[in-house]
Amino acid sequence: MSQPFLPFALPDIGDAEISAVTEALRSGWVTTGPKTKEFEQRFVEFLGGGVEAIAVNSATAGLHLALEALGIGPGDEVIAPSLTFTATVEVARYLGADAVLVDIDPVTLNIDLEAIRKAITPRTKAIMPVHYAGLACDMAPILALASEHGLKVVEDAAHALPTLYQGRLVGTLESDITVFSFYANKTMTTGEGGMVVTRNTDAAKRMRVMRLHGMSRDAFDRFVSKTPAWYYEIVAPGYKYNLTDIASALGLQQLMRLPAFVERRQVLAQRYLESLADLPLILPAVAAAGGQHAWHLFVIRLAEAARIDRDTVIQELSNRGIGTSVHYVPLHRQPYWRDRYRLTTDMFPQADLAYQTMVSIPLYTAMTDAQQQRVIDALHEILV
Ligand SMILES: *Cc1c(COP(=O)(O)O)cnc(C)c1O
Repeated sequence: MSQPFLPFALPDIGDAEISAVTEALRSGWVTTGPKTKEFEQRFVEFLGGGVEAIAVNSATAGLHLALEALGIGPGDEVIAPSLTFTATVEVARYLGADAVLVDIDPVTLNIDLEAIRKAITPRTKAIMPVHYAGLACDMAPILALASEHGLKVVEDAAHALPTLYQGRLVGTLESDITVFSFYANKTMTTGEGGMVVTRNTDAAKRMRVMRLHGMSRDAFDRFVSKTPAWYYEIVAPGYKYNLTDIASALGLQQLMRLPAFVERRQVLAQRYLESLADLPLILPAVAAAGGQHAWHLFVIRLAEAARIDRDTVIQELSNRGIGTSVHYVPLHRQPYWRDRYRLTTDMFPQADLAYQTMVSIPLYTAMTDAQQQRVIDALHEILV
């Protein structure tokens, strides 16, 4: 009975990463420098080119830079799903803008197109789709709606590395800016970190400047350039959002392993889909034709027939040494968002029902088949 605890998530960090980080530490250049430049280049190559990538110290920082670069400010509104992490929309508040939270589609758990349409006002400036769990939002109609109303689109792609939509990688679509996360439990990690991707060269330039104090040149540019190293100009009150070379060295190794990570996640997800099909569960939606799910999360929902509540399932899994999580307590239930915008659960029937019935179960590349079998067996014990 006393098997070791199986955590909900674990990073997959091997000897190559440890050597690369050690090398960065020994190199004498630990802050943003050559490794970060290389990480940005390799990230662009991974996406297939045609975009610029800007490394930042979190996706939250990237989302903030994105909205700032697109000119979002006081009185503006951005539309986002309630079923997301607070980071998606807290950045709008940093800029004095308002978050307009909307409901989700009950099948995909992604933002609902009709809900976006109804939420558009003269103050709306941007739509922020979140590719929940790693399944792409249906971007074509969202992009069409945005262009019809002259709105910007900033994709929160924290879960979506790599996610395919209609044969194209998220990050290369027609949105304005896309932001990825390298937080500890994401599909690849730099400890903390993120990458902002855009085709908009003006926005890219602004984000590079704002990433580092509003300086016209970063430390590495000053180090390698012919003009005096001590000279720089401050052109705006910027932020301190640059990624270190220590983190980028880790990121470069993780990026090389990403194709293998994806493959392992697909195998694990497929096995869950098959092995849990006989239980009273709503299993996650799979990608549409031409798509690929990143399987950052595997979120099961209890069907009505389950006759057991979500909290009990979590407790029973915990009793068997299995870690879980819930993604997310929707923002309309979070005191700050609820009170600021007077949100009630009946305004978000789908997000609220999903929340009340959902459990995220362990899915990560460092997980063995035997460990996954423990989860499958435990769910059969608990639910039958
Ligand atoms: C993880 C996450 C973020 C924030 O990423 P950080 O890199 O931790 O700032 C934003 N949005 C979603 C949906 C996330 O899951």
